[in-house]
Amino acid sequence: MAPVPEKSRIEKHLRALVGERNLFTAPQQLKRAEDYIARQFSALGLRVEREPVALDGQISNSVLGLQPGTAPAPDLFILAAHYDTVAGSPGADDNASAVAALLEIARCLETVSLSHSLLFAGFALEEYGMLGSAQYALAAKKNSRPVRGMISLEMLGFRSHEPGSQSYPAFIDPAQYPDRGDFIAVVGNEVSRHLTSGLSAAMRGSVPTLPVIDLVLPGRAEQFPDVRRSDHAPFWDLGFSAVMVTDTANFRNPNYHQPTDVLETLDLDFIRDAAQGIASYLEHELC
Ligand SMILES: [Zn+2]
Repeated sequence: MAPVPEKSRIEKHLRALVGERNLFTAPQQLKRAEDYIARQFSALGLRVEREPVALDGQISNSVLGLQPGTAPAPDLFILAAHYDTVAGSPGADDNASAVAALLEIARCLETVSLSHSLLFAGFALEEYGMLGSAQYALAAKKNSRPVRGMISLEMLGFRSHEPGSQSYPAFIDPAQYPDRGDFIAVVGNEVSRHLTSGLSAAMRGSVPTLPVIDLVLPGRAEQFPDVRRSDHAPFWDLGFSAVMVTDTANFRNPNYHQPTDVLETLDLDFIRDAAQGIASYLEHELC
């Protein structure tokens, strides 16, 4: 059995990461976050690579940490979180919460022998149109890299038990869903139906107190721009199986993309529970 995620470690990562991380308005902090992720990956024994992503003459790096599988099959599962922020926001929920979960999941799986390779990815420049993930997905497609599945962690830290705290995009009938923002959402498309249901079931099984809602959208969800705003979307567009795991961002969190997206607004138990559910899925799915 793998160790379980610890709140104190998640908090340590958050304290290191929270703060504006933007290529144009806070480049040093962005670089510091990149280096922090790379150091953590290295300390866990992952094979670390940095992949340069260019924008307007500047470069930011996606940070990739590989845990090689023991099976001869060369397929790869990707667990990802973007680490940049929009200008002017400290990005605690968006997306330090998910990077902290990513790092803690990597620690939990460090001693687990997986048959299938697992790539932990801190993607660059998501806030400028998912540039890091799009570049990675395109290269994977071109090189016929067998991507077994991909999970994009997109904001995992904001929870509210207040009635009426949850809203929904227009295509959702709110009467069919909870009005309290206390759940994690797993959003997939047709190709990722199996991944969506498997991940949701594993999360519910591993953390029964954490409500998980799953949603499968038709096609590549072209008609639903609200659910395409994270690093899974470039994978959807190239036909890979990919899901987004999220606290639903602006449909719950009033601090979304604001200067008020600070550490004190996060619920660390919520992040830990989500991390535990995802780690449990990966441990069983990739063994
Ligand atoms: Zn984000």
